[in-house]
Amino acid sequence: MSGEPLALYVHWPFCVSKCPYCDFNSHVRTSIDEAAWRDALLLDLRHEAQLLENRTLASIFFGGGTPSLMDPAIVRAVIDAAALHWNVAPDVEVTLEANPNSVEAARFADLADAGVNRLSLGLQSFDDEALRFLGRAHSAREGFRALEIAQRNFRRVSFDLIYALPGDTEAGWSAMLAQALSLGTRHLSLYQLTIEPGTRFASMVAKRSFVPISPDAAASLYELTDAMTSEASMPAYEISNYARAGQESRHNLNYWRYGDYAGIGPGAHGRRLGMRTVRHKKPENFLTALRRNGHGIAEEVPLQEQEAADEALVMGLRLRDGIDAGAIAERFGLTSIVDWQRVDRLVGSGHLRREGTHIGTTAPGRLLLDHILGEIAASEPKVYAVAS
Ligand code: SF4
Repeated sequence: MSGEPLALYVHWPFCVSKCPYCDFNSHVRTSIDEAAWRDALLLDLRHEAQLLENRTLASIFFGGGTPSLMDPAIVRAVIDAAALHWNVAPDVEVTLEANPNSVEAARFADLADAGVNRLSLGLQSFDDEALRFLGRAHSAREGFRALEIAQRNFRRVSFDLIYALPGDTEAGWSAMLAQALSLGTRHLSLYQLTIEPGTRFASMVAKRSFVPISPDAAASLYELTDAMTSEASMPAYEISNYARAGQESRHNLNYWRYGDYAGIGPGAHGRRLGMRTVRHKKPENFLTALRRNGHGIAEEVPLQEQEAADEALVMGLRLRDGIDAGAIAERFGLTSIVDWQRVDRLVGSGHLRREGTHIGTTAPGRLLLDHILGEIAASEPKVYAVAS
């Protein structure tokens, strides 16, 4: 809606190598024509800006792929162009995802100078053996060094760790997490390893090269994570994201709260003015589409009310704060987006909290989120008992 704050996502699709667990839109290329990519991103950005006039930009997020491989001059060009297209909020959050390789860490000062004010660093582990298993190109030592450089250059730094690897124990993970919590960042993303279809790990698991950790062991590690982060005043505000009060990722909060965002670059998704947009995934196809059409869009479809409401439910229940199911139903002109009888049953079993039409998961509920969503979502606009 005109006047509502806007988020901008910029996808840089290139990586130095493909990690075996990764199902993101990432590609390895021997050479990249930086000038062509700068022009392409600026053109794609202009297309979105023309459709989203009079908006205030609240956040920009450079994701990937590995955007810390971008020439900082391209990052600057995108940020500057966004500021020409839109009003920029005085406290605009500009995040860039970075890998901790030394070459990339050397660019942190230039990226800060270009306008990035929040760095999200993919440390993934402090253990060299785990990093090798994850196919990462950096060592634990390089990771710590990159974190130090990041903390010198950016006011806000977050880092990611991946846990629940085969063989992970409570003792091992609690030691690593305690170390993570002692490193002075105010935001952490802590992901459990999941085996995604089509990845190298998926074929390794199929060939029994390794066995993933059991769901029970993963659940215990999640509970341990919840307890330790809460104790350190950095509780979960989303299923896998932990922050001190006020240090949450505003950009990601906008996704989970179902706000509009423009998504540019290969494979980027966007949601604007009731439309869902998806860009061409393959970098070469994206460039061809841009040359032909002046934008990289592969698909642009109107979001049906029920579909949008279901998405808002799925995204919103990831947040510890939960959602106002009544307000979402009203926003999309539906009677209800949940089956309230089932919601109340799950409140009774201790998996959901409810206050009027506001619902959220409890700690045991967060472990079963997918199941809960399947239970309570109104799959079509049926007339359910309206909550009081
Ligand atoms: S660096 Fe990130 S985006 Fe690139 S392959 Fe590895 S996990 Fe995927």
